[in-house]
Amino acid sequence: MTTIVAGKQYGLFINGKWEKTIETMDVLNKYNQESIASISVAEKDHIDKAVKGAKDALNDSFSPYERYEVLMKAANLLLERGEEFAQVLALEVGKPIRESRGEIERAAQTLVISAEEAKRIHGEGVPVESAPGSENRMAFTVRVPVGVIAAITPFNVPVNLVCHKIGPALAAGNSVILKPAEVTPICALMLTDLMEEAGLPKGRLQVVTGEGAQIGEWLLENKDVNMFTFTGSPRVGEYLRSKAGLRKVALELGNNSATIVHNDANLEQAASLIAQKSFNNAGQVCISVQRVYVQEEIAEQFIELLKKNTEKLVVGDPLDESTDIGPMIRIGEAERVESWVNEAVEQGATIALGGKRNEALFEPTILVNVNDDMKVCRQEVFGPVVSVATYKETNEVIAKVNDSDYGLQAGLFTNNLQFAMRAAREIEVGGLIVNDASAYRVDHMPYGGVKNSGNGKEGPKYAIEEMTEERIIVINL
Ligand code: NAD
Repeated sequence: MTTIVAGKQYGLFINGKWEKTIETMDVLNKYNQESIASISVAEKDHIDKAVKGAKDALNDSFSPYERYEVLMKAANLLLERGEEFAQVLALEVGKPIRESRGEIERAAQTLVISAEEAKRIHGEGVPVESAPGSENRMAFTVRVPVGVIAAITPFNVPVNLVCHKIGPALAAGNSVILKPAEVTPICALMLTDLMEEAGLPKGRLQVVTGEGAQIGEWLLENKDVNMFTFTGSPRVGEYLRSKAGLRKVALELGNNSATIVHNDANLEQAASLIAQKSFNNAGQVCISVQRVYVQEEIAEQFIELLKKNTEKLVVGDPLDESTDIGPMIRIGEAERVESWVNEAVEQGATIALGGKRNEALFEPTILVNVNDDMKVCRQEVFGPVVSVATYKETNEVIAKVNDSDYGLQAGLFTNNLQFAMRAAREIEVGGLIVNDASAYRVDHMPYGGVKNSGNGKEGPKYAIEEMTEERIIVINL
């Protein structure tokens, strides 16, 4: 299966043609660090040509129904070739094959939902006649595309998060310049082929690869880019916002997600879901459970159950059907996580399970006796490490969850309706998941954070609101 991409050099996709460059970058198999294929490295001229092509393409008709048809066809093609995509995804990310298949299915869903939304983009009636002197007027709004959207995506979910950008952007009638993560770009390039095969008009999707910071700079300099939609680290997100001027910027950033386990929770359920959702994709998920707060009366019992569930997880080759946890994206990232765990231990934490590294593989790790100022709690770990702390009462734990620079999603296990409703009001996040861990997402729900986790919402319906302008039409009758 690896032969599909083996040794291939991918080009840039500009104005409907693949263009290879002399300079290239290798894309590595994250399990054995061998090169699997290479990508082209864009120069400034390529970026400007791509932006011009994207802008020109806006003049060609692409009706909502045509957008629906193209996106539906792309979704079907993606499902037909799901296994090819899943195998490449497992190689380039190091994501276990069963999880990779799940991502492809969700990505196809994201395209289907975007297709459906293309048919129902609408404005609303505005009762201007209720203002004195406007009795003879009527008004309504329409939603128009923002124009050329630069979409910049992270390494960890490189098919579904690309679909969360290009699906709604195209559905809303925009053109897109996609810049996938340089360490995991191949699936996005395969998806580009598939969009073309599905009949996407020339110029509507341009794909540029190469060094992220440099391409970002050229996109920022080009004033024909009307909007940036970015998913990735807070550091880069903040930089883009500071340089984008008055243009629209939608940011989906990091988190140090908390999940509360209250004394009336179903502990078996909580331990099983938290074990699963702390370590998926080796913890490299923006809503991975990182901080668990467990009510002190049940802490010992919960930690034992969490250990029991986590011990079952198999670490190894992502292509092996039995693997639950593959390598991290780089050996250097696994070394960083190792150093954070060691630092926590020096500061008084205890490793209840795991803690060892083998190259890029890091064992699923449970830390106890932690405090909120340790890096493993305060910053985003983005690795397979969960920290368990205790609390006495509900006010205290709500304050602990909120004592974070981030606010993407949180989880709460309780059967106490009053506590759940209070938490819903008081926990500062984009989403609270009750009786599940923080890492719950289906692709049509509104998804996005507060504080340093970003702004703007994803989920095709909500992303389309970001990716369109609401224009008012007033008629003097
Ligand atoms: P990253 O910020 O390093 O890179 C993201 C993208 O930005 C890549 O395509 C990269 O090439 C590009 N980039 C790098 N420097 C740039 C610059 N100066 N200008 C423009 N683009 C630049 O993030 P990552 O390591 O790929 O991803 C991990 C981060 O993404 C974590 O913080 C994680 O929480 C976050 N994330 C958030 C969500 C969400 O929906 N909120 C989803 C997935 C990942």
